[in-house]
Amino acid sequence: MKGNNENIYLPYPARIVRIVEENNQIKTFSLTFTDPLRNESFEYSPGQFMMVSIPNYGEAPISIASSPSRPGSLEVSVRKAGALTTAMHAMNEGEILALRGPYGKPFPMKSLEGRDLLFVAGGIGLAPLRSVINFCLDKKKDFGSITLLYGSRSPEDVAFQSDIKCWQEEESMECLLTVDTTGPGWLGNIGVVTTLLGRITPNFARTSALVCGPSLMIRFVLAELSRMGFSDENIITTLERHMKCGVGICRHCYMDNTLVCVDGPVFSLAQLRIMQDTELC
Ligand SMILES: Cc1cc2nc3c(=O)[nH]c(=O)nc-3n(C[C@H](O)[C@H](O)[C@H](O)COP(=O)(O)OP(=O)(O)OC[C@H]3O[C@@H](n4cnc5c(N)ncnc54)[C@H](O)[C@@H]3O)c2cc1C
Repeated sequence: MKGNNENIYLPYPARIVRIVEENNQIKTFSLTFTDPLRNESFEYSPGQFMMVSIPNYGEAPISIASSPSRPGSLEVSVRKAGALTTAMHAMNEGEILALRGPYGKPFPMKSLEGRDLLFVAGGIGLAPLRSVINFCLDKKKDFGSITLLYGSRSPEDVAFQSDIKCWQEEESMECLLTVDTTGPGWLGNIGVVTTLLGRITPNFARTSALVCGPSLMIRFVLAELSRMGFSDENIITTLERHMKCGVGICRHCYMDNTLVCVDGPVFSLAQLRIMQDTELC
């Protein structure tokens, strides 16, 4: 769809066709471009992000939460954080926002083929991994077993519950949930998500770990996966660095010879060590 004269900053209108309230902080928006041709030609891969905008409220990078194996609409899951995301949370089905993208390097889906996959997520961090999980479930014969370890602050904060319910019914998938603080009726684990790592016995040669969540969580999970025996190349994460343009021009997300928007946001621990990312490793 990108012609030579296309303005790379030009956002395209998209209609909100469905809103799912995941918890009191996170909503999932299903979107379709108002231009049917753009809808038909739109392509993306798990791990990429969109720049989402609303006039008068701003623009922000948001991971694509849907899987390209399920065409029809594009989904983004959004946590209420500031001006733009609060405005999105106030919108209704049928209203229009704007999108440009997709941007960023995706997860290396080809090199993950044939491998067992361990997903470790915290809070809204499950959004980009949901794209990968549903992609792998739709192409089961290409991937090994799937394990999800998902941490939330409390039982009311557990997001993506309808996805988790479907995933729990999948034979090839195991889901372990944990909360920092328990509440009435909670039967899962209590403790931070790293406590779930003690409950699994992955085959390190055959397994790749994909991690996303708050920086502090990523830091502890990467260290623990490394200590358990995963090689740095087989630990992959996706970073949330503040960025403005999304296309490698403004350099707002620059760190150690790397632009997170175009060189990432997906990086292996091996790459993070070369970048000497002191926040994460
Ligand atoms: C690749 C990528 C993918 C993302 N995916 C998602 C997603 O799937 N879902 C989701 O909910 N969020 C996602 N985010 C985070 C989202 O882009 C931010 O939370 C964004 O700031 C929200 O915009 P806002 O206008 O609502 O909030 P803002 O008004 O931007 O404020 C949000 C918070 O961030 C702080 N902040 C804003 N700009 C900066 C800056 N330049 N430097 C330091 N602090 C700053 C503010 O002080 C405030 O505390 C992603 C970020 C990246 C980089």
